[in-house]
Amino acid sequence: MFYNQSMKSISRLLIGLSLALFLPAVTCGQEPWDVRKIFLTTDETEVRFFNKKGNTVRIFARSYIREILNVWDRIQEISSYRSVLKFTTGSAPNAYAGKSGGEKIVVVNFAMIELLETDFDAWAGLLGHEIAHLKLNHQRAALKRKIPLKIVDWLIDRSDPSKAVDFAGSLLTNSIDMNYSRKHERESDYSGTVWAYQAGYDPMGTVRLHEALAKQGQVGTVPFLRSHPSSEERVQSLTALARKLKSRK
Ligand SMILES: [Zn+2]
Repeated sequence: MFYNQSMKSISRLLIGLSLALFLPAVTCGQEPWDVRKIFLTTDETEVRFFNKKGNTVRIFARSYIREILNVWDRIQEISSYRSVLKFTTGSAPNAYAGKSGGEKIVVVNFAMIELLETDFDAWAGLLGHEIAHLKLNHQRAALKRKIPLKIVDWLIDRSDPSKAVDFAGSLLTNSIDMNYSRKHERESDYSGTVWAYQAGYDPMGTVRLHEALAKQGQVGTVPFLRSHPSSEERVQSLTALARKLKSRK
C-alpha cells in the first residue's frame, strides 16, 4: 500500500518534472537570440532579429550591437568567465542569467535595451552584475533554498494531483526568475561594478540604471525588480562604491 502510494508520488513528480522541462518550448514561441551569432550572419549596416516565421521582430544599427558585444567581451575578460549573451522579447525591462541546454547564458530583453540605450557604462554594470550571479554560482544556492520547501509542500498534500503541476510550475519559475537573497544581490552589485570599472567604464552607470528602473517601477511592474529589488539603500551603496573606485585614480 505504502509502496504503491510512493510509486504514485514518484510518477507524479516525474510528470511534474517533465512538464517543467517541456513547458518553455510549448509556451514561449520565441527562443532568445544569440546576439553574436546574429551579428556575424550579416555585414549590413543593420542587424535584424527574425522570429521563427522569418518576420523581422527588431532591427538595430550594426554599430550599436558591435558596441554592446564589445562591452560584453571586456566584462567577460575581466571577470574571467565565459557565457553567451542573448536578447529576448519583452515589454517591461528584464535581464537574467542562468543555464539552459548546457549553455551558460545572460539574457537581456528588448525593454531593458530601450532603457539602457547607449549608456554603455550602465550596460557594463548590468552585464557585470548578471555574470557575477553565474560566476558566484548563485542560481544553485537559490534553487537549493527553494526546491526542498516546494517538495515538502507537495508531499504534504500529495492526494491532490494538481499539486504536481504547481510544483512543475514553481520549478519553471525558479529556474528563469530567480529570487536571489539580498546577500547575493549585494555580492553581484559589488563584483559587477568593480568589473565594469576595471574594464574602463564609469561605475556610476550602474547607479543610473537602478535610478531609471526605480522610476519605471513606480509606474508599473518591472519584472527585473522582482528578482533584483531596487531600493534607496541599493542606490546609495552603489553610489558609495562608485565614488570609492573613482577616487582611487
Ligand atoms: Zn541580481
